[in-house]
Amino acid sequence: MLTGMAQNDALPGFCTWLDDSNDVTTEMMRLAGKAGMISLAGGLPAPELYPMKAIESATKRALVRWGSRALEYGPITGFPALREAIATRMSEEIGQRIGTDNVLLTAGSMQALDGIGKILIEPGETIIAQHPTYMGALDAWRPRTPHYQQFTWDFEDKGFLAAADRAKFIYTVPNYSNPTGVLVGQQDRRALLALVREKRIWLVEDDPYSCMQLDGNSGPSILALDAADRNEDIYSGPVIYLGTLSKSLAPGFRVGWVVGNPEVIRALTLAKQCTDMTGSMFSQAVALELIEQKVESQMIDGLLSTYRERRNALCAALSTHLGDWFEWEIPSGGMFVWLKAKRADLDTTRLYRVAIEHNVMFCPGSAFDHAGKMHTTMRLNFTRSAPDVLEEGVRRLARAVEDSLSKLASGSSRLAVQ
Ligand code: PMP
Repeated sequence: MLTGMAQNDALPGFCTWLDDSNDVTTEMMRLAGKAGMISLAGGLPAPELYPMKAIESATKRALVRWGSRALEYGPITGFPALREAIATRMSEEIGQRIGTDNVLLTAGSMQALDGIGKILIEPGETIIAQHPTYMGALDAWRPRTPHYQQFTWDFEDKGFLAAADRAKFIYTVPNYSNPTGVLVGQQDRRALLALVREKRIWLVEDDPYSCMQLDGNSGPSILALDAADRNEDIYSGPVIYLGTLSKSLAPGFRVGWVVGNPEVIRALTLAKQCTDMTGSMFSQAVALELIEQKVESQMIDGLLSTYRERRNALCAALSTHLGDWFEWEIPSGGMFVWLKAKRADLDTTRLYRVAIEHNVMFCPGSAFDHAGKMHTTMRLNFTRSAPDVLEEGVRRLARAVEDSLSKLASGSSRLAVQ
């Protein structure tokens, strides 16, 4: 309550980590809904592919089956029947037994990342992370004020190896990384596993895109590789695996899970207790129905062919309109194309502002760099929009590049980097 307070009384300031924060995600979500805006920014699935009919009947079934239990507070570890179903699903997926004690249900993988920050990162701690790094992980861990050591899959690199002696965990998104779309090969996955075993540290494997294999097969997860060597009834290894329904069903469920050593699950449960006490039993009960009906596997072919077409449309439009200024690789899965500018003065943080004036949005590369650099890179999403919209978005982006460069040449002050 501010009543009675003198107007010029300064209230206490906020924590210092906020000084290094950014509101890219908040702004992305807000502007994506603006009339006329084409957003290539978010990591959003195509809403027209959500299985609306199946969700409607799953909701009715869940309410009949569970009654008020679907609307109560529940165990912090999650709706018990869904927890068991995820343990079974993960056991099938990796070909090794995963017990219920190995599973924690979360509000999307984002909550799992937040929990990992709380249980593993002391202020100032070293984190070894694939670089560029998923910005949600950077956001989740920023309040812990960590130091980052990036790695580039060079297992001879002395800095990387020395940091592994100091760090508690390594963070990677091996399947079609966010933001780069890079697929980490099986040899590198094994090398990473060997390293964390040798150094006796954790490995956080964040895997929302395993369902998005557009060309070929990405092969076993690092969790699967480790579990196969262990052959245990209850997994007790160093991999902390994050899964989610956000990309295969719909992000609005906010249903994700962690698979890990029971000790990790216990620690994360304590961390979750002080975040949201319990997740949404309602959402988890509906998700259970959808999983039992195997709705994702019924959808997957349609989903992949739509996304393949969109990826191809985006890359074709890039070649036509942006090839003079940027280079990129065609990703074999996931949701994103990562662009690198051919010119050092093509600053994508500046371009971001100009592009919004042209009614197109993308995600500037600096959001994926712990140091806020990488100013000549950007991430484009291809799953959200139809091919003609992608083409128009890229056309607008090309006009924004021309505009940005000509304003730069004329020294316009409107382009100050914000
Ligand atoms: N990790 C990665 C690498 C992601 O790309 C995302 C979504 N953009 C998440 C975690 C969070 O996903 P959710 O919370 O919706 O499960």
